[in-house]
Amino acid sequence: MPAIRRSCLCGGIAFEIAEKMGPIGQCHCSKCRKVSGTDGNAVCYARAKQFRWRRGEEMIKSFVVPNSNGWSSNFCGTCGSPVPHTDNANKIYFVPAGLLDDDPGHRGYAAHIFVGSKAPWVEIADSAPQFAKGFNSRRLNGPS
Ligand SMILES: [Zn+2]
Ligand SMILES: [Zn+2]
Repeated sequence: MPAIRRSCLCGGIAFEIAEKMGPIGQCHCSKCRKVSGTDGNAVCYARAKQFRWRRGEEMIKSFVVPNSNGWSSNFCGTCGSPVPHTDNANKIYFVPAGLLDDDPGHRGYAAHIFVGSKAPWVEIADSAPQFAKGFNSRRLNGPS
């Protein structure tokens, strides 16, 4: 199976994931809403060893949110698209699903997380499981 290709809005940053992608979840937390400018962030997970930057890694800018355990927004310095970043252990990349160029094969969301802090104007209309906070991402992507 060919690697799944993805890129930012200006195309300067591109990357690929060598394995079948994990399912896509929607995070409703207040930080993800600010980052995306909409009701949350559609994100999937990729194992770090399956993830490869194709170009533009030097274009990435980062904003670390004060007093939030190092939570950061990583984005393209030219076009502002959110870009992937790793977890603290550097084992998993959190990949914004909107950067997709190819079809990963999934339909709909696998889960909604941080529903406990979702925007009051959002009504979740699908039947995917909802979590008040986060959950262990290993459950979505198998052992790493
Ligand atoms: Zn860009
Ligand atoms: Zn979030």
